[in-house]
Amino acid sequence: SFHKSKGQHILKNPPLVDSIVQKAGIKSTDVILEIGPGTGNLTKKLLEAGKEVIAVELDSRMVLALQRRFQGTPYSNRLKVIQGDVLKTELPRFDICVANIPYQISSPLTFKLLFHPTSFRCAVIMYQREFAMRLVAQPGDNLYCRLSVNTQLYARVSHLLKVGKNNFRPPPKVDSSVVRIEPRKPQPQVNKKEWDGFLRVCFIRKNKTLGSIFRQKSVLLMLEKNFKTLQAVLASLNGSTGEAAGMDLGDQSMGMEDDDNEMDDDGDVEMDEGQGGEFKEKVMNVLKEGGFEEKRSSKLSQQDFLYLLSLFNKSGIHFS
Ligand code: SAM
Repeated sequence: SFHKSKGQHILKNPPLVDSIVQKAGIKSTDVILEIGPGTGNLTKKLLEAGKEVIAVELDSRMVLALQRRFQGTPYSNRLKVIQGDVLKTELPRFDICVANIPYQISSPLTFKLLFHPTSFRCAVIMYQREFAMRLVAQPGDNLYCRLSVNTQLYARVSHLLKVGKNNFRPPPKVDSSVVRIEPRKPQPQVNKKEWDGFLRVCFIRKNKTLGSIFRQKSVLLMLEKNFKTLQAVLASLNGSTGEAAGMDLGDQSMGMEDDDNEMDDDGDVEMDEGQGGEFKEKVMNVLKEGGFEEKRSSKLSQQDFLYLLSLFNKSGIHFS
């Protein structure tokens, strides 16, 4: 019996498995990372194509089934199984990741791979269709969102294959897609928390103008607080021997969950003219300088976002 809570949907269509492996472009010298091997239908083809497979599987029954399947075959010494939760496991070095993952870990797993300390060539991953379309969405597309911008900063992402739900046993409720994720080399030189905090603000409502988002009281208060904290740190650095250098400027979770809050009303208010004063002026001037006041995040490219963030930072305005 399969565990729904563990996202156990086994691939039952051998030609489809072949096609995933073929599109992944595996080399015979590759160390392959597989996440959630389950009963090993994909694992077997990966072992045929590459040098070594390292498979991380949460369910001990699956680990046993997998070991039994390859015991006494020429593959057994090229397969390493790690039992555990992939999100809590320190990943080994690998060349390529190929996986049919449990969909509930899509977002944290994707960012775990993108922030993996040693570089790899690419990841070829099965996602729920809508999640996959969000990953690859371009400015102006319906599904373009914070996840699209965030992922595409770190990687080139492309859609490889549509997969209907009937290729799985038991079939999941939704269709799937295989996506290729190729980390950019070199990786962009941004502060991850700063970038994430900035995008969270820009995508509070992706179809609102940035002018109206940045006039919101809660946004201005947050930015002003960061601004003052930084000023205080800088002042104490100038005036003392620099004990404050290691000061913690506050820790925000990376929170990569795929959530635009498009639906709920934030209930926030825009500051009246004359309220908020000087700091609000400062923020608005940054938007005007770059011509962003009437722009909407749903239409902005990654370059636009990077440019706007650099303008804010130049004015001493920070998002983390
Ligand atoms: N790869 C197999 C296939 O294609 O037939 C099975 C894929 S099934 C969608 C997902 C697998 O991931 C299951 O075997 C499940 O036990 C495992 N799994 C679920 N959560 C996991 C986690 N946090 N870490 C590692 N494996 C996990």
